[in-house]
Amino acid sequence: MDRSKEGPGQHRKPTHLVLFPCPLQGHITPMIQLAAILHSKGFSITIVHTQFNSPTPSDYPNFNFEPISDGLSTDQTQMEDVMALITLLNGNCHGPFNDLMAQMLSEEDPRGSIRCIVSDALMHFTQSVADHFKIPRIILRTSSATSFVTCAAFPLLREKGYLPIQDPQSEMPVSELPPLRIKDLPNISTDNSDTLYELVAHMNNETRASSGLIYNSFDHIEETALAKIQQDFPIPFFPIGPLHKYSSGSSSSLLPHDHSCIIWLDKQAMESVIYVSFGSLASMEKKELEEIAWGLANSGQPFLWVVRPGSVRGSLSVEMPDGFEEETQGRGLVVKWAPQQEVLAHPSVGGFWTHNGWNSTVESICEGVPMLCWPCFGDQKVNARLVSHVLKVGVQLENGLEREKISWAIRRLMVEKEGEEMRRNIRKLKEKADHCLREGGSSYESIDKLVNCILSF
Ligand code: UDP
Repeated sequence: MDRSKEGPGQHRKPTHLVLFPCPLQGHITPMIQLAAILHSKGFSITIVHTQFNSPTPSDYPNFNFEPISDGLSTDQTQMEDVMALITLLNGNCHGPFNDLMAQMLSEEDPRGSIRCIVSDALMHFTQSVADHFKIPRIILRTSSATSFVTCAAFPLLREKGYLPIQDPQSEMPVSELPPLRIKDLPNISTDNSDTLYELVAHMNNETRASSGLIYNSFDHIEETALAKIQQDFPIPFFPIGPLHKYSSGSSSSLLPHDHSCIIWLDKQAMESVIYVSFGSLASMEKKELEEIAWGLANSGQPFLWVVRPGSVRGSLSVEMPDGFEEETQGRGLVVKWAPQQEVLAHPSVGGFWTHNGWNSTVESICEGVPMLCWPCFGDQKVNARLVSHVLKVGVQLENGLEREKISWAIRRLMVEKEGEEMRRNIRKLKEKADHCLREGGSSYESIDKLVNCILSF
């Protein structure tokens, strides 16, 4: 198909899209990546954003930015209860977004008439705004398809008594969703556990009401889940991942990347380094930090460890245990925030100890780096199970962190036969990821379909 003949650039006026990200790191980046793809197809892009975790417009000369009031107090922007934050955002942003849309629609806009709203799934309130103005809304889901299948099954899981979870450590299998166990079901620490169920119910309903669903995923890693969603949600469906392979989106990082770690990696042996990072939200107890530190030290492997400020509960600064630096000098590097995609693509990196946020999981697969999985909350447990038991490209650390267990798990991944097998498996997936982006590949085709779908509105 010659796409230049039917791209939006062929229309006399540009086709204008309004994108609404959820203001969390793992959600902003994929939305910016999607914006870059859509812009490259000739669409004019406006990103509507909250003041909280606002992007820096000057980093993106190709996009327009429209801030709205999020109504959050300083205390609320710092709370650890992510569920409460998302609930507040869905309530507070409705009025301001509605007003902004009314204003944009009433003006003769050089950016063209608004054809569609593309919203993060968590910002489910955007469906009622879209309905009000009779504008189609397409959803970007930044998490895995597998976790959405689990969320879509929440009513059944409640009926069968799996939910609410009685024992978060239960190894009992969820026979309706193999290979999940009760302990793998999405869970989150929140002051009001109803908020999780309410959010999931909203997302399920608003997905049905939407005009399309975009996934940062592709057939070879989530074939079963993608097929199930397509069957259960009869709306246009676009698995176009891995998004970061079109555009890194690294300028959307909320923390500055410390590039000195790349120079350090340059000096390490091929595939010798275990990269350790638990993303932008996960936090741990001081005792867990100590076990991780000594587990890394005792493993004997070189390591690059991201310790985000605030990642240890109850303190803003993070102190390493006494003797750790001396013990690991020359063999380990600790940074506050790393250029993760570059790190994973570095030939010295041979393993990734991750919390299995979906972006990190996809980034690891695309660089062929096997994983040590330590999921913390939400969809991460489902993703970890996918990685370890379906794709077989990782091993999961379970039942608490202890230094002996950690150093053994690191060695299993980095030097034992088991790790070699996982490395082989993930390299095959990397090739498949590369292939699906090329002409004729599934994600390449899905992008075409997405463009044509938007143009058909
Ligand atoms: N990331 C990064 N530097 C780091 C750690 C993470 O740039 O030191 C990026 C990572 O590449 C990914 C995102 O932050 O794109 C984290 O998203 P993910 O979905 O993995 O986890 P979340 O932060 O949402 O828990």
